[in-house]
Amino acid sequence: GDALGLLILTPAAWSLADRWKRRREPLDLGRKLKGLAMIAATAIAGHWAFSFSPNDLGAMPITPFVAMPVIAFAGARLGIRVAAWSGVALAIVSIAGTLGGAGPYSGGSEVATALKLQEYLTITVFSALALAALVSETREQQAHAQASEEALREANEALERRVAERTADLVVANAELERLAVSDGLTGTFNRRHFMQAADRELDRARRYSRPLSLILWDLDHFKQVNDSYGHQIGDAVLCAAVHRARSVLRDTDVLARYGGEEFIVLLPETSIDSAIATAERIRVLLSSEPLTTAKGPVKMSASFGVTTLDRGDRNLQPLIERADQALYRAKGEGRDRVRLQA
Ligand code: GH3
Ligand code: MG
Ligand code: MG
Repeated sequence: GDALGLLILTPAAWSLADRWKRRREPLDLGRKLKGLAMIAATAIAGHWAFSFSPNDLGAMPITPFVAMPVIAFAGARLGIRVAAWSGVALAIVSIAGTLGGAGPYSGGSEVATALKLQEYLTITVFSALALAALVSETREQQAHAQASEEALREANEALERRVAERTADLVVANAELERLAVSDGLTGTFNRRHFMQAADRELDRARRYSRPLSLILWDLDHFKQVNDSYGHQIGDAVLCAAVHRARSVLRDTDVLARYGGEEFIVLLPETSIDSAIATAERIRVLLSSEPLTTAKGPVKMSASFGVTTLDRGDRNLQPLIERADQALYRAKGEGRDRVRLQA
């Protein structure tokens, strides 16, 4: 009897203490009402089962077990707390019914009645509590698994975002690297290495399809004097300005590169010798027409140009460059600031 009392009252008392501990949490009223309804349903089922007189046909030893599905359902759906209080309610109505001489367990000796009732309550309440505990543990595990899954998904998403960011950074860095690899650090034109590769391709194409292709080699005049008079920084500015002016004359398909210190080379695909000479002349005029305004005053600049065009016998770029160089040498020798051609 004492053990049964403990079994019934302990979970109920514990649920009260637990609620007291968490009293600041808002009460879920809907859930509370459902709990009360289940406790009442258990009490009603118990009361009905213990309402028959011992001689009635309805008062069979298993009749009180109609309360079992009710209390089990309460425990499974609403938790241990409701199961515990349903157990208390069932104990009260069954004890009251039995004391009143009703129900299947009364009618015998007092000891037999008490033992049968205790047995009944033990089975019913313990089953309901065990079921509620099982269900609540399963639910907890489910919630835990769900939380882990969620955390894993979030971590995965964060990782994917980081990978995407890093990839985008890499793409940008790669593009920048590619640009740096082909260009001249000071003037931003293509460098000599890239020019040679691009020119080889253009030359192959021009030779295969018998298309015109011309080359201009140009060199700033008396550039050493610019450096000597104004300093290296102004010299650099003059180099950049010369490139800027030359670019404004050239087509997108022309390939301009820094060939040496103050020497530049232009490959002109689909361009005859006459057009190439005209282009060189336009660059020359644009360079010498107006001095560059610098921090140290206006700086005059000019350049000499050697022009040549693709010949049937040219198997690679070398003979073209040699001819352009000879023409440039002549332009220098004949007084600079002029365009010469070498056929
Ligand atoms: P010329 O008319 O015969 O071509 O005379 P030049 O003085 O231009 O020719 P030279 O070859 O004697 O001198 C070229 C000068 O260009 C020497 C070098 O210091 C300068 N130079 C080469 N590269 C750079 C550069 O990147 N920056 C600057 N500021 N000067 C450079
Ligand atoms: Mg020079
Ligand atoms: Mg030079």
